[in-house]
Amino acid sequence: MPAPPKLDLPQTDAIVVGSGPNGLAAAIRMAQAGWSVTLVEGADVPGGGVRSAALTLPGYIHDVCSSVYPLAACSPFFRTLSLEKHGVEFVYPPVALGHPFADGSAALLHLSLEKTAATLGADGRSYQQLMEGFVARWQDLLQDLLAPPRFPRHPLLFGRFGKQAIRSARGLAHAYFRTDQTRTFFAGLAAHSILPLEKLTTAGAGLVLALLAHAAGWPFVRGGAQQLTNALLSVLRSLGGQIATGHFVDSLDQLPPARATLLDITPRQLLKMAGNHLPQSYQRKLSRYLYGMGIFKMDWALHQPIPWRARECSQAGTIHLGADLEEISQSERQVWRGQPTQRPYVLLSQPSLFDSTRAPEGKHTAWAYCHVPNGYTGDRSRAIENQIERFAPGFQDCIAARSLLSPADLEKHNPNLVGGDIIGGAMTLGQVFLRPTASLYRTPIQSVYLCSSSTPPGGGVHGMCGYFAAEAVLAAK
Ligand SMILES: Cc1cc2nc3c(=O)[nH]c(=O)nc-3n(C[C@H](O)[C@H](O)[C@H](O)COP(=O)(O)OP(=O)(O)OC[C@H]3O[C@@H](n4cnc5c(N)ncnc54)[C@H](O)[C@@H]3O)c2cc1C
Repeated sequence: MPAPPKLDLPQTDAIVVGSGPNGLAAAIRMAQAGWSVTLVEGADVPGGGVRSAALTLPGYIHDVCSSVYPLAACSPFFRTLSLEKHGVEFVYPPVALGHPFADGSAALLHLSLEKTAATLGADGRSYQQLMEGFVARWQDLLQDLLAPPRFPRHPLLFGRFGKQAIRSARGLAHAYFRTDQTRTFFAGLAAHSILPLEKLTTAGAGLVLALLAHAAGWPFVRGGAQQLTNALLSVLRSLGGQIATGHFVDSLDQLPPARATLLDITPRQLLKMAGNHLPQSYQRKLSRYLYGMGIFKMDWALHQPIPWRARECSQAGTIHLGADLEEISQSERQVWRGQPTQRPYVLLSQPSLFDSTRAPEGKHTAWAYCHVPNGYTGDRSRAIENQIERFAPGFQDCIAARSLLSPADLEKHNPNLVGGDIIGGAMTLGQVFLRPTASLYRTPIQSVYLCSSSTPPGGGVHGMCGYFAAEAVLAAK
């Protein structure tokens, strides 16, 4: 096969391929260190998992992928960038999360630990006891949680948290909580792990998300996710970085020579892009890397807000749907085994209730997804809408238009979403720390580094994978 042509790119000290939040963070950190930087993006619009578009009707702005930004708001690196000066305004719903139940009540995750505990009935005190020591020191904790494996900065605190976080979500829910409702509420949080809730570490996802809600809340970005990307691009430009969109990189050989190349891509793409340059042993490790469950996503343009039976859910930016711990556990377990359930665990966000720029006056937007087997080709739209209707009778009558995104659609939108996996590879016990291999950011190719969510600390919009990859480059030079 003939070698693919060289791309027409400027020659700079560093080249970053991929403009997701990690690619952007890596590019910014390199530029801060005085390196000239080119950021190369395959799509015409930069941002990767942080983009918005009119997916349904004109005048309705939808976040194509990520939408809810506790990790971005609390990110130790993003917090140093004064993103508000570059146009980011975080919008905080009064309640981070609502979990409605069949009887019309709901558990609510507030900024205040006490107010949250008050919605958890008999378990309020246990919840408070579980969380208060961590919430009081959330910044110290995040410094260690959003980092590659290393000796922790705050070992005692990290050890105390780790002891709980390493448990399975079901194990922790049964150990701490007596009521079905609190166990269900915790299961909804822990299901963000995108793993069966019997697996070790799934409690960690629930604890981190609850911690972030009490630390800062779960904000949206006013005007849509793209505004966050635009702000990061603005920071990069202010440091002299250059951006080249519409340049898909098939092979490393297409890039100009550079002192360092940082790749915001996942292992499978690295094998395609650089397979012939990689030793067999590293190729084998990459090909054994485990991708996780995918998602099936829907966006709606709505005539009116979602009519939740538990009315307080209209105060919440995010809603988790699943009647009880067993239903959520079964949903995740079966999808992991390749068989979706009739009543999937559904994760929904309703940004226009708190950000009027998202839809024409009086109209609304919402988005939801459920987990599906990796590469799933079926249609989950009926199951998702039925699950919403169960807790918000009349929902279907509110719909003006809908958009569906299957795993294949998502991967077409962004090749990092392999089989619909939204976090760059399963966050199993082995892959939480040694991600994607024990060499973390470094690859066997001289001066070529990985910087995507397939490196520590993993999925989510925090930019810390990019930041630490850049630090690894700087430490080596
Ligand atoms: C539907 C969905 C909902 C989500 N919701 C949330 C949420 O609410 N909150 C949250 O914190 N996280 C959420 N996430 C996860 C979050 O979006 C990701 O963890 C994050 O975007 C990962 O960032 P990244 O920089 O590693 O990669 P990405 O954001 O995936 O960016 C990778 C970029 O690299 C480009 N690229 C890939 N290959 C090439 C190539 N060969 N040549 C050139 N360019 C290339 C891609 O086009 C893309 O722009 C969600 C993800 C999805 C898909």
